[in-house]
Amino acid sequence: MPIRLYNTLTRQIEDFRPLEGNTVRMYTCGPTVYAYAHIGNFRTFLFQDLLRRYLKYVGYEMNHVINLTDVDDNTIRESQASGLPLRLYTDKYIEAFLADRQLLNLEEPEHLVRATDTISEMLKLIQTLVDKGFAYASEGSIYYKVSEFPHYGQLAHVDFSGVRDGARVDSDKYDKENARDFVLWKAAKEGEPFWETPFGPGRPGWHIECSAMSMKFLGETFDIHSGGSDLIFPHHENEIAQSEAASGKTFVKVWVHAEHLIVNGEKMSKSLGNFYTLRDLIHKGYKPSAVRYLLASVPHRKPLNFSFEGLHQAQQSIDRLRNFRYRLTKESFPAGESSSLQTRAHEARQKFEAGLDDNLNTAEALGAIFDMVREGNSAMDRGEFRDADRGVFLDTLERWDRIFAVLEDDDYAKLVKFGFVREGTTTINAGAEAKDSNAAGVGAQRVADKQTKTLITETLSDEEIEKLIAERLAARKGGNYARSDEIRTSLLKAGVILEDTKAGTRWKRK
Ligand code: AMP
Ligand code: ZN
Repeated sequence: MPIRLYNTLTRQIEDFRPLEGNTVRMYTCGPTVYAYAHIGNFRTFLFQDLLRRYLKYVGYEMNHVINLTDVDDNTIRESQASGLPLRLYTDKYIEAFLADRQLLNLEEPEHLVRATDTISEMLKLIQTLVDKGFAYASEGSIYYKVSEFPHYGQLAHVDFSGVRDGARVDSDKYDKENARDFVLWKAAKEGEPFWETPFGPGRPGWHIECSAMSMKFLGETFDIHSGGSDLIFPHHENEIAQSEAASGKTFVKVWVHAEHLIVNGEKMSKSLGNFYTLRDLIHKGYKPSAVRYLLASVPHRKPLNFSFEGLHQAQQSIDRLRNFRYRLTKESFPAGESSSLQTRAHEARQKFEAGLDDNLNTAEALGAIFDMVREGNSAMDRGEFRDADRGVFLDTLERWDRIFAVLEDDDYAKLVKFGFVREGTTTINAGAEAKDSNAAGVGAQRVADKQTKTLITETLSDEEIEKLIAERLAARKGGNYARSDEIRTSLLKAGVILEDTKAGTRWKRK
């Protein structure tokens, strides 16, 4: 049975097969790197990771591109406010994004692409659109002529035939009611970064970035394009208009969108200020694996309500799974096997796979695995579990974890790696780990060991920071840039941001 995916373009659930061979070509819109990504953003990124992992699970190879929007209205505004050049300013948030991805066990894509490294491809694409009559110049900017593209509105399922000819919109984000000819290339404004080009000095609009980056790495037509549902209009609509007008071909076969992470009935968003970053939650004592579990627990086409209660339950669910696996590997059972138990583990595998085949229904997949864990635990408690039953249970659990990726108990090691905790003194959220009704025997001991530790959020004293900054300065003066970069990176990992100014190096804690 092929995987079935809901396609926003056709509004139907469709059987999925790659267009060519065994490789799935997938593009997912990445973060705009002007601030830390919040866990709403990570709901979408995590869904894309589950999709990627499941496509691999069923045997496909991936060619997956994630972009980093490092030039747009927001990045320019915030870098100007900080006084840092755009590239340096966005570097910091790219580094944080990559760290968060590792903390949340998101697989690395085949290509991670910065928009500012793809400017020449954007210019070529704009030139093609001008040559074909889909774009025109006005006051130093280039605009896309919506009325030239008859299918405009196909993704959002809106009739835009009434859009006024010649009316233009310069901002990257706007709603359907304000649809106009949108900007492909923006004339340079006083004080803003710009590129010298045949169209004059300026910088790209947001939408052209993704058309250029996706087609550069995946070709003019590819399999899957994805983002949060807020990107359907105008971003993805405009990507289709740009790409298809230029190539004359279908741009993307399947469009998949994730519904939002919600807080108290509203979309979690930077502009509303109702957001948590992963770091916020780590500093509150929650494990990255609990965040991963929570974000994965609701199928992507349903809104997911964020609550600390939900996060707490996620932690308990993970403990239950980890403890079951621990029992499977460490407890001793009588020799022999029980074929009915083994059948249950087989069925659990079939059920979780069937759930994921069905438009990545993660709730079904979780239900199947927890039924198996409950039955396995009670068979163990009743003394009915046999030594030879371990294998099939472990196999089902580990297959499931190839997608969910929460079983390995590596939160602590990762937090040490990224400077959130100092080794030897710490671990996380004793409260969340304490209550697991199923933490029998050795499992309970394992959980209890961890509760002796507490979280620290600040790993270096002011004196230690000043000392490292002085050492970095000396390294730079001596031409040892590798060492000076190393110090900058380790300070960043410890939550300290450096800013080089004419007056010397300033620092602040994140
Ligand atoms: P941005 O950094 O704003 O470009 O967003 C990066 C990704 O996060 C996009 O795919 C957005 O659609 C997605 N996104 C933004 N807010 C949320 C949210 N509250 N829930 C789920 N996805 C979101
Ligand atoms: Zn995009």
